Amino acid sequence: IDSKEYIKQHVRTVPDWPQAGIQFRDITPLLQDPKVFRALIDIFLARYANANLNYVAGLDARGFILGSVIAYELNLGFVPIRKKGKLPFHTISEEYDLEYGSATVEVHTDACKQGDRVLLVDDLIATGGTMLAGKKLLERLGAEVIEAAVIVDLPELGGSKLIEQSGLKVFTVCD
Ligand code: 5GP
Repeated sequence: IDSKEYIKQHVRTVPDWPQAGIQFRDITPLLQDPKVFRALIDIFLARYANANLNYVAGLDARGFILGSVIAYELNLGFVPIRKKGKLPFHTISEEYDLEYGSATVEVHTDACKQGDRVLLVDDLIATGGTMLAGKKLLERLGAEVIEAAVIVDLPELGGSKLIEQSGLKVFTVCD
């Protein structure tokens, strides 16, 4: 059994969570099993080992779990992109639309600088709004976002297509 198939088998679908009609992809079984967790991280490490990166940026909150491990293993710094109101220092914000209402993500103004090459990591792409907001934040700081990396894409929601149309390449472990 190849490692991608093995990883896929450890993503659990939870029906009607957090609300009726949503099929939530739960990645906790994947983190729970040390062999699968390592196989997953190793896929990202192989892909980005020679990408000449300066930072790995992770999206709140599951992007922190993956992104910090990838950053540590590649000897890079980690940049948290957080939900509104969590970061203590000077921040910039990006607001984006959700199905109902909106959300805001923030980054510290000194998190990275002009010319830095940054990998943007999250667990999953649905509508793509979160990833695109993260990209905008990093680009406002002058960074170059080299790729958006996730475990799972939900292509029927069109998010990864939108992200690619914005000029950012998407890498998905389970497609
Ligand atoms: P988007 O902004 O692309 O619509 O939603 C992606 C964001 O919401 C990611 O930060 C992701 O963690 C979270 N998300 C949305 N749906 C799911 C899901 O089914 N499973 C998981 N694990 N995260 C989800």
